[in-house]
Amino acid sequence: MDAATMRLEEQQVRRKRSRRGFFCGALLFAFAFSAAARQVFHAAWANSTATVIAKAPVSKASKPEATTTLAAVGDVMLARGVARKMTRFGPGYPFEKAAPLLLSADIAFANLECPIAAGGAPVVKRVVFRARPATARSLAKAGVDIVSLANNHTLDYGPRGLAETMSNLRRNGVRWCGGGRSRDEAEAATVIQRNGIKVAFVGFCEFAPQDTSPRHKGPVIAVAPNTSAMSNADVVERVRRAVVRAQRQADVVVASFHWGVEYAPRPEAAQKTLALAAVAAGAGLVLGHHSHVLQGFQVVPQNAGRNARRALIAFSLGNFVFDPSPSRGAAPAETVVLRCVLSKRGVLSAQVVPMRIEACRPRAATAPETRRILTRLAQLSRALGTQMTQGRIHVEDEAVVGARAAVR
Ligand SMILES: [Zn+2]
Repeated sequence: MDAATMRLEEQQVRRKRSRRGFFCGALLFAFAFSAAARQVFHAAWANSTATVIAKAPVSKASKPEATTTLAAVGDVMLARGVARKMTRFGPGYPFEKAAPLLLSADIAFANLECPIAAGGAPVVKRVVFRARPATARSLAKAGVDIVSLANNHTLDYGPRGLAETMSNLRRNGVRWCGGGRSRDEAEAATVIQRNGIKVAFVGFCEFAPQDTSPRHKGPVIAVAPNTSAMSNADVVERVRRAVVRAQRQADVVVASFHWGVEYAPRPEAAQKTLALAAVAAGAGLVLGHHSHVLQGFQVVPQNAGRNARRALIAFSLGNFVFDPSPSRGAAPAETVVLRCVLSKRGVLSAQVVPMRIEACRPRAATAPETRRILTRLAQLSRALGTQMTQGRIHVEDEAVVGARAAVR
């Protein structure tokens, strides 16, 4: 990590800590009025040590291992109806109610589903998004540390729109993965270090809204297309290589994928193939999005033997900040913040905090809404062989349960 990047990281952490104080105060105040929200608050924080994915047993004599927290959310779209709300209610509007959750995590991740630019030319397609340059600051103020640019809207205003997006993010101290000035740069990992733990992010998009030929020059996103343009083996190999390279630079690799079928509650075979390829290559956490709706979670073995590790796959985190589609009417409203505790060994635990999107932005779910979201996620996860109770994901292996006690 060079000196400039380290300075940037330090600034980011300082900025986040100072905002955290204000937002946590505001959060406590707001939550004092809502018993339902208090329940969510407790679920998120009091149980934050609940272990979902435990690793090799830790001796009781060893000092407590360093951990860091990651909050991950799905699609954040800051154009169209969301932009109108921001004009009316101010730039902080989209994240006003979710910012405390994002700021309280050491690292917050989102999929940025739009270019942030003033220039570029709209490409010819049914829906094009472009958010105003000032929205990059809204992301930073809400505590978003890193976004994935590998999705089907980042190039809505062409390569120029993407280049401008990257400079707007950089200016506001928001990092990104899955996009770059070249294919190699787009596939390279972005490493964020917190509490001595290095977390590498890579991002891929299953759709290829750009020229995928190796000769193509100019800003691009990283793609893993499920089309005949690239053979499936090539795609899997590119993902594998990107994760292996990321693994050499970090303790934990987070692989983000924009994939699947819109409004489908269950992952497709192609999603499972890519997720398992990323995990086999060393990813500890897979974060999926694009379907607009939530899909289930799956805990899978990362490797075998004495140092057996487990990885967590979130097939889709759904929408997070989004407006209702003009052609479809009502937008899917159920969403979550996925809160993970990471150590150098990988993902130790995970918990989902249910939220509901109302007037384009997420707010804490009420008690009945929380129950509905968690019941549904438990069903979807059970279908993937993973047990989940009250937002926590269980590991059935007895040895792993023992390791959990030791970690505590
Ligand atoms: Zn999408």
